[in-house]
Amino acid sequence: MSSQSQYGGDSNMQSKQAASSSEKHVEKASTPGRRAEKKLRAGVLGATGIVGQRLVSLLAGHPWFELTEVAASERSSGKTYAEAVRWHLDAPIPEVARNLVVKGLDPSLDCDFVFSALDSSVAGPAEEDFARAGYPVVSNCRNHRMDPDVPLLIPEVNAAHLDAIPLQQKNRGYDTGFIVTNPNCSTAGLVLVLKPLADAFGLEKIFVVTLQAISGAGYPGVASMDIQGNVVPFISGEEEKMEAEPQKLLGKWDGSRFVDAGIGLSAHCNRVPVIDGHLECISVGLKKIASLDEVREAIRNFEVDAELASLPTALRNPVVVLDEENRPQPRRDVHAGNGMAAVVGRIRECPLLDVKLTLLSHNLVRGAAGAALLNAELLAARGFLKHRVTSSESHLAEPVSQ
Ligand code: NAP
Repeated sequence: MSSQSQYGGDSNMQSKQAASSSEKHVEKASTPGRRAEKKLRAGVLGATGIVGQRLVSLLAGHPWFELTEVAASERSSGKTYAEAVRWHLDAPIPEVARNLVVKGLDPSLDCDFVFSALDSSVAGPAEEDFARAGYPVVSNCRNHRMDPDVPLLIPEVNAAHLDAIPLQQKNRGYDTGFIVTNPNCSTAGLVLVLKPLADAFGLEKIFVVTLQAISGAGYPGVASMDIQGNVVPFISGEEEKMEAEPQKLLGKWDGSRFVDAGIGLSAHCNRVPVIDGHLECISVGLKKIASLDEVREAIRNFEVDAELASLPTALRNPVVVLDEENRPQPRRDVHAGNGMAAVVGRIRECPLLDVKLTLLSHNLVRGAAGAALLNAELLAARGFLKHRVTSSESHLAEPVSQ
């Protein structure tokens, strides 16, 4: 059986998924209460980077958002986006972006909110500057993920953590601005798969070994002489992030603080010579005894609610289970669900813990740009993103979402 047939039932999965997804966009954009004619204006900080490019690409033709600003370092600012960017995607640079002039990090952009895909050396203060200036900041970066008043969000897992935003604004003296983050690329897939197991059986211990793609290190990333025909058993800070972030994601917001999930978690992280797609070998200790069939069904039946299913980038079933013994594989399965699915296979007994499985997720889509886009869509649907009034259009501005 071809890889494609397992997700879409034919040999042309990607084009079919793209087509059905854009049809979905059209339908959703015209649903009552959503004003397709007044899109929210998005800026991308770090737009020239490998994650920023994905965001620029995903924003082209988005039903709710339009790209109006791109910003990056002094190396790029003042050039057009097409001149500044070293473009890595197969599809060409979207027309809407080509001639945008790249700006610096001054928080005076002509947009309603910003995505941040900045290098972490500058993201921390830059994101605060934008939030202070009134911009909602939807960040990929690690800098604020573990802040005690900043939601670390996967909509399918912990949408309730958005309740922390008003306290964050009060704590920091932000008016309309705030910061929301998405997790590290290898944490994103892991937690999506753990969520249905946590709900059904409770989680006691997790042991995970990653095989992470080189695009996870940005561009140019790991030198070819270091990674070609090789495995590098160290990714700076990655194991710490993988051991900390799931505790917050699977924990609770109690009205004044995030309470950790309290799971025992050990991670080994490795860089492997794969372009896109992080593979993870996971062993799980459950609180409640469950058969393999029950575990498989809990994962396979994981379905989002109607609110989430209505978001343009959401999948109704964000975890895909494959039954073949040699799947998932990065080359064959990384684009499942347009890169937004966590793909699971090899669900079997673990002689040390209870169950073990293999997971694959697209580090640049599910683990970065797609994750941020989905976060922004949930924020828009919940009324957290509004049209910012600029002097030139003050007579036109009004809230876009209920
Ligand atoms: P990247 O390819 O190295 O891109 C970094 C971006 O930051 C570029 O647009 C760069 O602009 C900009 N930048 C660097 N220094 C700057 C400065 N001093 N002032 C303003 N802009 C500056 O990195 P990436 O892989 O896209 O990652 C971006 C962020 O997302 C990082 O924080 C990373 O940790 C996070 N992330 C990455 C992944 C992944 O799989 N790659 C996954 C999750 C999260 P110039 O082009 O002008 O230098």
